[in-house]
Amino acid sequence: MRKVEHIGIAVKDISVSVPLFEKLLDIACYKTEMVESELVNTAFFKKGETKIELLESVDPEGVIAKFIDRKGEGIHHIAFDVDDIEAEMRRLQNEGFVLLNETPKQGADNKLVCFLHPKSTNGVLIELCQEKK
Ligand code: ZN
Repeated sequence: MRKVEHIGIAVKDISVSVPLFEKLLDIACYKTEMVESELVNTAFFKKGETKIELLESVDPEGVIAKFIDRKGEGIHHIAFDVDDIEAEMRRLQNEGFVLLNETPKQGADNKLVCFLHPKSTNGVLIELCQEKK
C-alpha cells in the first residue's frame, strides 16, 4: 500500500453534498460518475495527494442506502492506493483478512478495486485501488 488514495463518504443527496464540499474544501468537484457495479453516484474532490469520494445510492436497497439507514451519513471507507492489486489481495488473504470480492472489480475513477470485510479490520471498511494502466 502506498498511500491513502481517497476517503469515501456516504451522503443522502449528492446534489446537496457537492456544493457543500465545494465550499468546505474551496475547490470544484472535478468528476462525477455513476458506478454500475455498485449502483452509486460518485463525486470526486482532490486536495493535494488525497481525494474525497462522495457516494450516493441509486438503489434504495443498495449498500450505501443500507449504510445510511444503519449509521447515518458519514465516513464509509478508506481507500489505499496499491501498485499490484492481485498481489496485495493475496498478501492480505494470507494474513487472514476477509476479502469482499475474490477478483478485482471495476470501481470509479478508472480503478480496479477490492474491499476488505470490516469484521476483519476493526470495523473499518478498507478499499484497495489500483489505477488501470
Ligand atoms: Zn472508494
